[in-house]
Amino acid sequence: MSDAPAVETRAFDTEVHQLLKLMINALYSNREIFLRELISNASDASDKLRFEALTNEGLKGLDQDLAIDVSFDPASATLSVRDRGIGMNRAEVVDNLGTIARSGTRRFLESLSGDQQKDARMIGQFGVGFYAAFIVAERVSVETRRADEPAAAGVRWTSTGEGEYQIEDIERPEQGTEITLTLREEHRDLLSDWQLRRIIRHYSNHIAFPIRLHKPLAEDAEAAQEEKEQQETGPELVNASQALWTRPKSELSDADYTEFYTGLTGDSEAPLSWAHHHVEGSQRYSLLLYLPSSAPFDMLINRDEREGIKLYIQRVFIMDAAEQVVPRYLRFMRGVIDSADLPLNISREILQDSPLLKKIRATVVKRSLNLIEKLAEQGGEPWQKFLEAFGSVLKEGVIEDFEQRERIAGLLRFASTSTSGDEERTGLDDYVSRMQEDQEQIWYLTADSLQVARNSPHLEAFRKHGIEVLLLTDRIDEWLVGHLHEYKGKALKSVARGKLDLGEQAEPEESARKLAGRIKKALGGRVGNVLPSHRLTESPACVVADEHELSPMMARMMRQAGQEVPEATPNLEINPDHPLLGLMDAQPEGGRFDELASLLLDQALLAEGGELADPAAYVRRVNDLLVAALGDSDRSEAVEAAS
Ligand code: ADP
Repeated sequence: MSDAPAVETRAFDTEVHQLLKLMINALYSNREIFLRELISNASDASDKLRFEALTNEGLKGLDQDLAIDVSFDPASATLSVRDRGIGMNRAEVVDNLGTIARSGTRRFLESLSGDQQKDARMIGQFGVGFYAAFIVAERVSVETRRADEPAAAGVRWTSTGEGEYQIEDIERPEQGTEITLTLREEHRDLLSDWQLRRIIRHYSNHIAFPIRLHKPLAEDAEAAQEEKEQQETGPELVNASQALWTRPKSELSDADYTEFYTGLTGDSEAPLSWAHHHVEGSQRYSLLLYLPSSAPFDMLINRDEREGIKLYIQRVFIMDAAEQVVPRYLRFMRGVIDSADLPLNISREILQDSPLLKKIRATVVKRSLNLIEKLAEQGGEPWQKFLEAFGSVLKEGVIEDFEQRERIAGLLRFASTSTSGDEERTGLDDYVSRMQEDQEQIWYLTADSLQVARNSPHLEAFRKHGIEVLLLTDRIDEWLVGHLHEYKGKALKSVARGKLDLGEQAEPEESARKLAGRIKKALGGRVGNVLPSHRLTESPACVVADEHELSPMMARMMRQAGQEVPEATPNLEINPDHPLLGLMDAQPEGGRFDELASLLLDQALLAEGGELADPAAYVRRVNDLLVAALGDSDRSEAVEAAS
């Protein structure tokens, strides 16, 4: 033995402490989930034992008859959850219960909003795990031993959840872990068999190991009689204790699927839909896929972390296989895959590259898109919820998955000049069905917001011709159209790029060309070309990108992301019919004309939602003009009044 004191006191990581405090507040009204978390850990530990027993001689035979035992005792106000799973040694206890190893914890803590209900839901999804015990317990004790170590390697960990914990070595003949909670006064109502049975059925019915509920030792005669009966019949089996995905679909109700989902994900909201298949053929596997109804808190930021699709082989949990079986753009999918054919003792490394897994991946993609397509057909609120939660993520698919590009594109929804309000959206198929007879292109406009888009000068000519334009305002849309050049044979084209050809177009008049030339001269290097426009009916001018140049919006986004982007020189198109251009035409060369030309360009940039290189100069120019204009009219009024 070492010189370490028998009972050692250690401090929690500051993050643990912070999480504990937050969690106890946020989850107070949702206290029952603590049991789900403990049972889920017990189930994971049993899964791990099974998995390790495949290759670890020392564990042979220990993976039989695994079960989870729940007992309670009102007399001592305790509740315990015991498993015969893999257990932990001392170092593991310190690592697992004294620190938060997860990289996302800080980010998670920062993302909490203070709104109890929302936070409770997020915490549930994030999985507070073991610490959930402190929602109801004033004291938690863990006794554990790793299944492949001797009885003397047992460990006891205790804490009141207030910054410190104690740890000591103990003798523990049983493998696995027993967690005992001493409940706080106000939670002792949970210590009854009907309460516990209800909670276990509600949250843990589909745990694949049997969960047994033990009644407390009796004090009075009547209970003693009951206890005797119980001992004869044994503890009560509370859950379905069978892997749900292996059961035939015909035996399962919607409630079964929803409950299983809740247990699997910790999500308190029901899924939008699911698909359950038993795939036969050269390779046999079961596949159960869920479409959640809202996004986890960091799904958009965290593009690389994919969790939530569990791979089993013959009902033994092997690994979280989301990265192997779902592409990034489907990272919101949840579910279980269980292969009947992969060899159980295959190493995870070999598995990663196995051709079967590649096949499974293709199936998961297909089935997931099927699910989403079905949801789209049904429409209504579930479809709206999907779009809101995952619409942007799905767009990544157009960029990443060449094979499924058109299929995914068909599922995307956008605002357009034919939709009303901020909510309504349309798909590409609907757009195509509304196209004018001689219309060959799908027109779109990208902008920072729907309001900027709807007011854009670029839409003027399209309005006049009654041609619909898609309004793309998601950050990812610029990338999207960079990859989606056509849909069902129709080219996608920006209204703000290149030459615009909307049928009959008169040649610009000589005078307009001359005016454009003068403006170009005045603006010098700030613009590429200056041309009379076919795009405008109301605005005096607009900026137009070259066909293959970065759009101003894309350039802005790239700069925000810290990338160097060369300053673009936009082309300026002018509307010779606008009174301002008429007035300019009458101005002689020099001073005022140059100022107006600068204003024209700055206004066009502003209308796009762009930023001016020198906003102060713009303001000064506008003010000079205002003073001149108002000064003139005031003076003439004064003259009139005097006469
Ligand atoms: P999570 O389960 O999400 O990893 P927890 O806080 O619930 O987070 O648990 C932290 C770690 O403690 C687990 O990953 C596991 O390694 C260990 N652990 C918790 N409960 C048990 C248990 N019953 N048996 C073995 N290990 C456990």
